[in-house]
Amino acid sequence: MKNVVERALENNTEEKIAVFKAKQKLSYEVKVRYAAARAFEFYRHPEIGGWCYVAVGGLDSITLLLFLRSIGLDMPAISVSVLEDKSIQAVHKQLGVQALKPLKTKVEVLREFGWPVLSKEMAGKIDLLQHPSEKNATVRHAIITGETGEYGGYRKGTRMKLSQKWLDKFGGYENENEGVNYQKPDFLVSDKCCYYLKEKPCNDYAKETGRYPYMGLMASEGGRRQKALMINGCNYISPGTKRSCPFAIFTRQDLLQLALDLQVPVPEIYGKIVRDADGTLRTTKAQRTGCSMCGFGIHLEKRPHRFDRLWERNPKEWDMWMNHVDRLPDGSWFGWGHVLDYIGVEWREPEKHLVPSEEQQLSFDFK
Ligand code: SF4
Repeated sequence: MKNVVERALENNTEEKIAVFKAKQKLSYEVKVRYAAARAFEFYRHPEIGGWCYVAVGGLDSITLLLFLRSIGLDMPAISVSVLEDKSIQAVHKQLGVQALKPLKTKVEVLREFGWPVLSKEMAGKIDLLQHPSEKNATVRHAIITGETGEYGGYRKGTRMKLSQKWLDKFGGYENENEGVNYQKPDFLVSDKCCYYLKEKPCNDYAKETGRYPYMGLMASEGGRRQKALMINGCNYISPGTKRSCPFAIFTRQDLLQLALDLQVPVPEIYGKIVRDADGTLRTTKAQRTGCSMCGFGIHLEKRPHRFDRLWERNPKEWDMWMNHVDRLPDGSWFGWGHVLDYIGVEWREPEKHLVPSEEQQLSFDFK
């Protein structure tokens, strides 16, 4: 049974989420004004004092940078640009974004810590199974069975349990302890990639400079930060964390409209922003981008998936990532192809799954 305080906190959370959802339904014009107001509020907050930076990655945060500049908020922009697509790097350069270096190369991270696959949450659990210690025994038990044990109040059927599909593939590390008969992969899985490649360099920059970030996150995009964004809102200022996400209540449509209004240079990887007959905006190529070799969410994508697209852009780079990243115990080379085979994601013959983009089709039509 929940006590009065727990129930009140829960209600408060529900209320915050309801208010946030109402704001998401405001008109585009109102949301843009709201974003500007929140951005200024953060900038002028006594604990911030204008000492900020913009964390830049793909189109969302490039739009944020230009939005902040358009309302007169000028500040350094930083990015671990090298992780982005070449066309995004070119736009970063054009906009004077300062390039930070990752602590390790992508290949080093994959070899040392493991492959970012399935989802960040699941990869973290598999990483724990692959690194058993006395300390994490209770959590490992919960990952396999869903039972939280003494410290977790003996709860059963919790969300800690990996789904059966992935237990079958990755749960084999606990076969003896749990009396089960699951498989084990011959590669490591990890959720640490983002930390070493992206988060740590930005955190170090923030620590060294004492500046606080503006980020282009939108709750409508889902992901693991969605709930925190809805509860904490655009600006979050606490003793441990200070950040501003002026676009938190935006939808993808709002973002694309703003990019059009601000004449944001759209990196080539996205193609162009176009409006469909029903008025919906979209980009003609990639809708979203991330590291070209990331495996998070790949099992949910239809073909042509991100690795097919990588082949389309750069067959040599594709071959390297698919086949030549690390060595198996027998000395043979492997890459994403081996990992994708293991989780049942098809990746061979990308050319058969790629249809010409609309732009290419148009140019054929006119030939
Ligand atoms: S997005 Fe994926 S590949 Fe890129 S740093 Fe994060 S986990 Fe690694």
